[in-house]
Amino acid sequence: MEPVLRFAPSPTGYLHVGGARTAIFNWLIARQKNGQFLLRIEDTDRARSTEESIRKIISALQWLGLDWDGEIRYQSANVQRHMEIANRLLQEGKAYRCFCTREELEAKRKRAEALKLNRYYDGTCRHLSPEEIQQKLDQGLPFAIRFKVPEGQVRFNDLIHGPMSVDNDTLDDFIIVRSDNTPVYQLAVVVDDHDMGVNLVLRGDDHISNTNKQILLYQALNWKVPEFGHLPLILGPDKNRLSKRHGATSVEEFRNMGIFPEALFNYLCLLGWSSGDDREIFSKEELIRRFSLERVNKTAAVFDLQKLLWINSKYLAQKSVDELLPFVETWLKNKGLPLSYLQDERFRYLIGLLQIRSKTMNELTEQLDLFFTDPVEYEEKGVKKFFAKENSLQILEALYALFQQQPAQFFDNLQEIEQAIRNLAEKSGLSAGKVIHPLRLALTGKTASPGIFEMIYVLGQKKVLNRLKNAINYTKKLIH
Ligand code: GLU
Repeated sequence: MEPVLRFAPSPTGYLHVGGARTAIFNWLIARQKNGQFLLRIEDTDRARSTEESIRKIISALQWLGLDWDGEIRYQSANVQRHMEIANRLLQEGKAYRCFCTREELEAKRKRAEALKLNRYYDGTCRHLSPEEIQQKLDQGLPFAIRFKVPEGQVRFNDLIHGPMSVDNDTLDDFIIVRSDNTPVYQLAVVVDDHDMGVNLVLRGDDHISNTNKQILLYQALNWKVPEFGHLPLILGPDKNRLSKRHGATSVEEFRNMGIFPEALFNYLCLLGWSSGDDREIFSKEELIRRFSLERVNKTAAVFDLQKLLWINSKYLAQKSVDELLPFVETWLKNKGLPLSYLQDERFRYLIGLLQIRSKTMNELTEQLDLFFTDPVEYEEKGVKKFFAKENSLQILEALYALFQQQPAQFFDNLQEIEQAIRNLAEKSGLSAGKVIHPLRLALTGKTASPGIFEMIYVLGQKKVLNRLKNAINYTKKLIH
């Protein structure tokens, strides 16, 4: 049978990476087995659900490339149907009206806590006679609807954790409709999953206790119980559940950091699933082919930002410069710089140089400043080593003279540039490094940069001379 899966986020915030991973695993199975991946927005909590959150969740899913089948369903549109099923359970004697007040329930809860009972609801309203019920209805007393948990056990075979069971006498007669006449999640999710034909529910470990209750509802309604799998949680480095305290947790934040969607997708798959070999970089097509629930870990996974960055750097390195241009375009726009730079050969060459030295697009674009702005300060340890030495000024002046006397086309030829610098070093009786380090500091302000010959090509004669002049002035001041 083709699997029908769904992702069912509550739109009360952004899309957390844990939710994104749940969505990805559902999507992978659906695509692998020619099944369906449905999207249902669980927006019945009107107080906490927002349009903004719906928009963010949808845009994060789209960004990750998780396309869903059919229309998006909104749980709030099905309230009537939820109520119809609640009433059916009521009529069949599988649920009952509970007239207990909030204060009474609170007292029951306290009592259960004190006595360390498994369940707090003592069944007061379970045993009301039809006359008593009618009397309360006539008085217009508000009521909730509770599911009558039968005797026995709930058992299911979790696709990740294996056989699971719970004794029903540990479960309260749980509420399925609140006293304000709104259906509760436990009921809504079962009715919707059933109506949507969902036959495989894959969601976070935190839903295991819900699954027990939901299976009881399926059974009471004589509906086929879907298969269930519960994914281990994602933890922060301190082994607590990954939260904002640990830094970025939403798909949107990683996107804003300059992470590629395919890198986040790839990383989230490794977070809880292992391929069985040492490989870590997988295309979406490969993941669709290779993913299996058997290889999903049972234990929680620790989110490792460094690993995500490493994976992202691999994707970044593989891209063509053209693929990076849209990001650079945004950066140029934000900086108020002309977009014509996107066609500038030297600028594009710099993008290529930076792409293999950066982990994220943001890290790359930050370094593009190098192209536009002469360094205003120099790395301190570099100054000590390369500008404050006895012969520093001499070296910088010799470099200035060398570049000043070259024709324009000299700066188009990497080999010539390299040869000229090596010749200069040799003539001065210095190792190439002794010339290159001060030159790098002068041109970039840093002790590390892309290859220096390449940087000279990128900058061209005017900028090179200007930056050397600045460095010479800086060095003179150091000496005096
Ligand atoms: N709406 C629930 C949540 O966001 C998920 C429900 C489910 O997957 O059954 O946690």
